[in-house]
Amino acid sequence: MQDKKPGLLIVLSGPSGVGKGTVCAGLLAQDDNATYSVSATTRKKRPNEVEGKSYFFVNEAQFSQMAHRGEFLEYTRVFSEYSYGTPKKYVFEQLEQGKDVILEIDVQGGLQVKEVYEGAVLIFVAPPSMDELKRRLVGRGTESEEAIVRRTQAAYQEMQCISLYDYVVINDTVESALEGITAIMHAEKSRVSRREDLVSLLLGGMDSYDELSWR
Ligand code: 5GP
Repeated sequence: MQDKKPGLLIVLSGPSGVGKGTVCAGLLAQDDNATYSVSATTRKKRPNEVEGKSYFFVNEAQFSQMAHRGEFLEYTRVFSEYSYGTPKKYVFEQLEQGKDVILEIDVQGGLQVKEVYEGAVLIFVAPPSMDELKRRLVGRGTESEEAIVRRTQAAYQEMQCISLYDYVVINDTVESALEGITAIMHAEKSRVSRREDLVSLLLGGMDSYDELSWR
């Protein structure tokens, strides 16, 4: 039996209001092998959010301490207001156990992740149109008018970064977005660089081919 292969590190980014949260929840619901990385943030908790599940809600001093101790895989200030960061320990523990880890983070964070972990798969979730994005942002009803303006401006900036990502998936319907992401994950797992065990067996003869757990 082979050692467990590390899971995939999947980064999902996209403008606020595009529906990343719903896509992410759908992905976790359909895939037992996927796990969500809970970020730390200095933003205030929204009424529907749960400490330790939605985020680890911390104050500025706690966040700086975590950053100083090198506990983040990446961190950044989003909307130039609050800090957000991905705790490193959980991500690497889960990857080592063969779990696919989903990060739902902004573009700046995604690019930082790619720098320190080349195998990360960067997926940009885009809206069907900018008008539809604005409609979703307002319809969500969780943000003040001022915050909506700020997030809409940030959305335009985020959209400029699509070309730096590995894949783009349109969140027209959640089902179609999930289909796209699932296909990407299958393709990534079939990369020759991830299947060196299989390749060496194929090249070295077929004797032990059946022993390989390759699904
Ligand atoms: P929200 O305040 O709506 O929960 O999230 C605002 C933005 O912060 C979203 O674009 C979200 O993807 C991003 N975000 C959440 N957690 C992290 C994180 O750990 N790192 C980075 N870089 N961005 C994050």
